[in-house]
Amino acid sequence: LAAVPPVSRPCPESLEVLPEATVAALREVTGLDALLWVGHRRTGNVLLLGNPVEHQLLQNHFDTGDNESVAAALEVYLHIRELLATEGALRTSEANYRAIFESVSEGIAVVDVTELRLLETNQRLRDLFGLEERRLPESRLMDLAWNGTGPSVEQWQRHIDLTLRGWPQLLEWQAERPGGHTFWVEINLRTAIIGDQLRLLAVARDTSKRKQAEEQLRHGALHDALTGLPNRLLFLDRMSQALQRQQREPGYHFALLFMDLDRFKMINDSFGHGVGDQLLVAMARRLTESIRPGDTLARLGGDEFLVLQENVHHQEDAKRFAGRLLDVLHQPLHIEGREVYSSASIGIAVSRPEYHHPEEMLSDADIAMYHAKSHGAAQFQVFKPSMRHQVVERLQLENDLRQAVLRDELRVHYQPIVDLGSGRVSGFEALVRWQHPTRGLLMPGGFIAAAEETGLILQVGEWVLRHAYADVVAWVERHEGLGPFSLSVNLSRKQMGSPGLVQGVRELVAEQRHAPCRLLLEITESVLMDNALLAREVLQQLRELGIHLSMDDFGTGYSSLSYLHQFPIDVLKIDRSFIQRMEQSEEGKQMVTTIINLGHNLAMKVVAEGLETCSQVELVRALGCDYGQGFYFSRPIPPEEAERCLVEGLATAEGL
Ligand code: C2E
Ligand code: CA
Ligand code: CA
Repeated sequence: LAAVPPVSRPCPESLEVLPEATVAALREVTGLDALLWVGHRRTGNVLLLGNPVEHQLLQNHFDTGDNESVAAALEVYLHIRELLATEGALRTSEANYRAIFESVSEGIAVVDVTELRLLETNQRLRDLFGLEERRLPESRLMDLAWNGTGPSVEQWQRHIDLTLRGWPQLLEWQAERPGGHTFWVEINLRTAIIGDQLRLLAVARDTSKRKQAEEQLRHGALHDALTGLPNRLLFLDRMSQALQRQQREPGYHFALLFMDLDRFKMINDSFGHGVGDQLLVAMARRLTESIRPGDTLARLGGDEFLVLQENVHHQEDAKRFAGRLLDVLHQPLHIEGREVYSSASIGIAVSRPEYHHPEEMLSDADIAMYHAKSHGAAQFQVFKPSMRHQVVERLQLENDLRQAVLRDELRVHYQPIVDLGSGRVSGFEALVRWQHPTRGLLMPGGFIAAAEETGLILQVGEWVLRHAYADVVAWVERHEGLGPFSLSVNLSRKQMGSPGLVQGVRELVAEQRHAPCRLLLEITESVLMDNALLAREVLQQLRELGIHLSMDDFGTGYSSLSYLHQFPIDVLKIDRSFIQRMEQSEEGKQMVTTIINLGHNLAMKVVAEGLETCSQVELVRALGCDYGQGFYFSRPIPPEEAERCLVEGLATAEGL
């Protein structure tokens, strides 16, 4: 135990605080008490330090020391105390820092701000980017993106500059580890003062899972669940891009094809939604195979599909493409052991500088599709501006027609049907008219198609049936002893498929104790053929109610003569077009002869429609036709006139 030699300059490294046990032993031996016991590492001397007030005490015991040395020792003590305090804190904080640095789930790199070298990285970061496998002699920050997919050097520089100016930055890219494993990574760049130095801190996070979830959500939001095709939203986005490109590049054109399956609703209704869905999926697959790689196919919903056709140099390109799609869609499909036929109508809009919003072009293609449909199934039409006007008119018409049914603006006119043997009026065909408030009396040609499309035909048809039947009942009640006669009422395609038809007719007939006349329902061939199974069923039920059936416009439809005998048909009506051709050629006459014979062979009565001249009447009569109808005898006439005609007969038919 010795006094410390004078200390001129504190040298903390050579001193150490003695452990508690040593101090206790020293206290025992020396009987001294001091605030701090410090040992000198090299010499083994012990320095006792008390507080300044007790200098005396220290001097008394260590006479080798003087005031000066004690003061110096005190200085050392204070310094050591300070040092030890900060050093201890540093040690703890360094340990904490290490633990955090290595245990967080983020990859962390400390980067120097001038050379952008990675000064320190944690294991997570090295694993994430495979830094160890890559064995870079000296990594720089931008080396994290190494396969060319990440930010460019310029982008890095911009982000770093902004970070250094106090704007923390976020970078994200799809990175690759050596070995080809790709993952999404997000890097937060910020500055930090570490050990007095300004550093860049890069915190990296693997965001693959989040990206995947986002991607799934995004896919769900932009795709149709049934077919997996892009949906309306995504399609509109692609169209926006195409429209923008069109504004930039004058030579660039594209076409929009709007497709709607024909009779899809019928397939859905008669075979069930399962078959309907399978049909849509099958159609989507076919269309996918038919488009070119750059084109976009989407399902708009229901049975509507869209194609964005790229690089259309001429309208003809789009037309040819549409023709090809129609062919593809027309091929039969085998679904659940059934052969299902479908077809589509296509509207085409070709890009024009006037189009600025996708919706404008979509609406035009829709209009063209609508036109294609009204021209019959399996057709395409290219949009023309005049079509827009027609659509507005059509909408107006539909709206008016809805009102017409409610406001009782419909009328029934009756066209007499004459027995060519006796010249007697054997019945009437009920033909609907519309007393339009501003446009006068409208013929069915002007509104039946619209009524059919909107479904209003069901109300119109029922209205005609009820009114015509009521008229006939009134005639019979007013005039006793009228001979037998018939009432023919036209049945539309929709009515035929409507479940309420048979019940409606049943109720109508049940109201009368005695049938006032023979009720004939007229249907066309195409209505029969559209859904032969259903038609046969419905016709059979009608037949059981005592209703007779008439095949209208015969010869203009599918002309599947072989089918005819499968249906309970009573009357064949030869279409007006055959009557017109009959006198022009031997062939025309032969055709009428054949139809008449065919009808008779199937035990049907035959009516010649559209007889306009005396010679036409004479000819069909000579060919053995049973009945005649046409302007020669009478135009369709209002109920009062028809009633008179029923009672008094027709002057034009008298000579027969
Ligand atoms: P449709 O069933 O073939 O009716 C015969 C059409 O030919 C009637 O036209 C009639 O006026 C016309 N016509 C009759 N004789 C002659 C003639 O000698 N020469 C010429 N050029 N035409 C003649 P309308 O009344 O304009 O009816 C047109 C079509 O509208 C009808 O053709 C029918 O398919 C449909 N229609 C009429 N009323 C109804 C109805 O109540 N319901 C349904 N679903 N369709 C109806
Ligand atoms: Ca008819
Ligand atoms: Ca007809």
